[in-house]
Amino acid sequence: MRLDKFLANHGMGTRTEVKQLIKKGSVQVNNEVIKKADYKLDPETDVVLCQGEAVRYIDELYIILNKPAGVISATEDHLHDTVVDLMPEYRHFDLHPVGRLDKDTEGLLILTTDGQFTHEVLSPKKHVNKTYYAELDGTVSEETVAKFKAGIALDDGYLCMPAVLHIIEPNVIEVTIQEGKFHQVKRMFQAVGCTVTYLKRIQMGGLKLPADLEIGDYREMTAEEINRVQ
Ligand code: URA
Repeated sequence: MRLDKFLANHGMGTRTEVKQLIKKGSVQVNNEVIKKADYKLDPETDVVLCQGEAVRYIDELYIILNKPAGVISATEDHLHDTVVDLMPEYRHFDLHPVGRLDKDTEGLLILTTDGQFTHEVLSPKKHVNKTYYAELDGTVSEETVAKFKAGIALDDGYLCMPAVLHIIEPNVIEVTIQEGKFHQVKRMFQAVGCTVTYLKRIQMGGLKLPADLEIGDYREMTAEEINRVQ
């Protein structure tokens, strides 16, 4: 891989910025100053220092975010802050969110550079469960639990796969769904006469939102966490 591409891919700056760093002599490969942007390196074995700092080889990035309300699950938006804007140190990575949460929804959101991972997690065939905590305007009962289990029909006629509804209080619930239709949870509750007033995703597959990850906080995921999702 070219040295300038490697540095840009690893968050050291834009292609133009890293080319300048290389020209200035700020980059070493295996203890040797390299001034050619097209120098070819083996990203897995060569030791790269940029301005004296080791550049850790990253194959793919996986970030877990406790999404706050008010930001949108996209990589770019002219009007609103996006989840990528929350993590400036990763701005040079080609991160995308694994699925979407509404602007007013909080909770577990994964961002990654790994398109194959995203494809697999979102594939309807995989049935990766998503669990949400919700507060409702309106109340639910055991009858609602049975309706969710049988499959709720949305306003456009789509019949949802069976969902597990756990009642914490008549207007506070946790629900586990298998697919990810647009505004699905809100529309499922609409179908039973309730309005969702607060929504937070708390689990994807076997991965729970870590209790110590405050709203707005994010960090790279461990290999174990990545495996738990699918
Ligand atoms: N369902 C919704 O209605 N909104 C979300 O953000 C996620 C699931």
